[in-house]
Amino acid sequence: MDQIIDKTKPVMVTGASGYIANWIVKLLLEAGCTVHGTVRDPDNEKSVGPLKKIAAAAPQGTLKLFKADLLDKGSFDAPMAGCEVVMHTASPFVVRGFKSAHEALIRPAVEGTRNVLEAANRTASVKRVVLTSSVAAVYGDCADMKKIPRGFFTEDDWNFSSSEDHQPYSYSKFLAEKEAWKIHDAQNRWRLVTINPGMVGGPALTRASASTSIDTMRALGNGRLWPAVPSMRLAWVDVRDVAQAHVEAAFRPDAEGRHLITNGEPTMLEIARILRKHFGSGYKFPLFEMPKFIIKWFAWVIDSSATPKFVEQNSEHPLKFDNSRSKQRLGLQYHPLEQTFVDHFKQLLDDGLIRRK
Ligand code: NAP
Repeated sequence: MDQIIDKTKPVMVTGASGYIANWIVKLLLEAGCTVHGTVRDPDNEKSVGPLKKIAAAAPQGTLKLFKADLLDKGSFDAPMAGCEVVMHTASPFVVRGFKSAHEALIRPAVEGTRNVLEAANRTASVKRVVLTSSVAAVYGDCADMKKIPRGFFTEDDWNFSSSEDHQPYSYSKFLAEKEAWKIHDAQNRWRLVTINPGMVGGPALTRASASTSIDTMRALGNGRLWPAVPSMRLAWVDVRDVAQAHVEAAFRPDAEGRHLITNGEPTMLEIARILRKHFGSGYKFPLFEMPKFIIKWFAWVIDSSATPKFVEQNSEHPLKFDNSRSKQRLGLQYHPLEQTFVDHFKQLLDDGLIRRK
C-alpha cells in the first residue's frame, strides 16, 4: 500500500556522525530536508565538525544536532518529535579490540534498536523507520552458501551461523534486525524498511569514524595485509549508493521490506590489483593469496577476529548476492566498484591516512 511521506517534516538520523550517516545527511540536506541528527557527544568537534561542514555546503537544508545514546532509553524522544521518517543507522561496527562482544556489540545494537523503535511507538508523527541493517543479518559465513540450494543469497535469507563467540558483529546485526521486525509487527502505524548493505567502501567525509570499512581499506594500503591475504570474498558496495538507498527507502510511497544493497563480491586480492593498477607499486598492497591451511593457524595472531573457524568457513568459498530488488524497488544505479575503491583510496591519501612504502 502506498504511503505518502511529507518531505517538509524533519527526518531523524541516529548516529549522524558515522561514515554512512554523513552521506545520508548530505543527500537529505541537498534535497532541502530538515535533519535531526543524533550524536553521542555534540561537543566532540572531531565527529561533529564534518557534519557542520556538510551542512554549510548544503544551505537549502537545515541540520539540528541532538545528544542521544543507544543505551539511554529516553534520549531519542526529543530528536524524534515531529518526524515522519526515522533513519536508525547508529550501531558499533568493530570486529576486534573489545573484551566483551556482548557489551561492545550486541547490547548497543539490540537495546539501541529497541530504544529507538519504542520511541517511534511513542511519537505519533512517525510513519516510516529505515533501519541500517546489513548483509550480516542475511548470512554469517561464506560456507553458509552450501546450504542455500538456489546458489545465492536473497532478502529471504537470515543468518543462521553467527553467535556471540563466532562473528559477533554479524550476530549483533541479525539480532537487531529481528528485534526491529518484532517491534514493527506489534503495531500498525509506522512501516519498517531495511537497508542491508554489504561491506561499504568509497570516500569518507569524516576522519573520526571507527568503522571497519575504513580500517579494511587502510589495511589494504598500509602493509597490514602485506604480502598475502586469504582468498576471501565479501559483498562490497559504494557508500554513496548506500546513502541513496536510505533516501529512496524513506520517501518512495511503496517502499517496504528488506533490501540487499551489494554490487559484487571481489576477493581482497582483486581489490588490491585494482588499487595497484591505479596507484602504482609504491604502496604495500598484498601480492598473493595464502592457502587456507597455512593462514588458518596464524591469522588470529595478527587479527583476533580471524580465528581458525572464521578462516575455515570464509576462505576459498564462493559468495553471491542477488541485488535485483534494490534496483527494481529503490531504483538504485550502482557506482562501479572500481570507482568505489579508487575514490576511497584517493581520499585516504588526501587525508594523509596512508603513506607510500
Ligand atoms: P561508523 O562510522 O562507526 O558509525 C557508527 C555510528 O554509530 C557512529 O555515529 C557512532 O557514534 C554510533 N554509535 C555507536 N555506538 C553508539 C552508542 N552507544 N550510542 C549512540 N551512537 C552510537 O560505522 P558505519 O560503517 O557508518 O556504520 C553505520 C551503520 O551501518 C551501522 O549500523 C553498521 O552496522 C551498518 N553497516 C555498515 C557497513 C559497513 O561496511 N560500513 C555495512 C553494513 C551495515 P559516535 O560517533 O558517537 O561514536
